[in-house]
Amino acid sequence: MAELTTDTPGSASGDEGAAAVQYPLEVEYCEICTMPPEYCEYGPNPSKCYEWMKTNLPDCYTRLVERGVGGLTLADSKRQKRGGKAIRKIVHCETPKQIKVSTVVRGKKKHVTLIVGLKTFGIDLKKASKSFAQHFSCGSSVTGDDEIVIQGDVSDDVIDFIQGKWPEVDDDSISFTGAQKK
Ligand SMILES: [Zn+2]
Repeated sequence: MAELTTDTPGSASGDEGAAAVQYPLEVEYCEICTMPPEYCEYGPNPSKCYEWMKTNLPDCYTRLVERGVGGLTLADSKRQKRGGKAIRKIVHCETPKQIKVSTVVRGKKKHVTLIVGLKTFGIDLKKASKSFAQHFSCGSSVTGDDEIVIQGDVSDDVIDFIQGKWPEVDDDSISFTGAQKK
């Protein structure tokens, strides 16, 4: 008695909706300095980072070499290259998950707080803007592809608020970059 398990079209089950889920860009972090690979050169021990990167994130390493970072050469990684098409790990190392908060003085004493980068965490900007408005009781609007402007200087509080609401935003991924004048 053979059990027939034919795949009849239309009888697929179990994976409905799975393909519709969209994830934010996958960003790799250097395990040595915990920063996105293109920041390694500013880290405490870049050469150690690059050693690690060479084996673990060869794409990023190659890209850094091509950009002429830190006098790196491809000599070593070339030796490891297989012929033909290597299986490449797709790494978007040009877009690190990073949120930047800054304040801008507009006019005489009108401060606004600028938040850039929420999208790199896949955070819905419209929803975020709405929750800022509610939490800080002030105007907030999406002003760019990945930019939110909150009316008023809420820079003291906004980073805590963001991390409370989206715990995936770790301390290394969000920073206050200071006040700018416009
Ligand atoms: Zn590093």
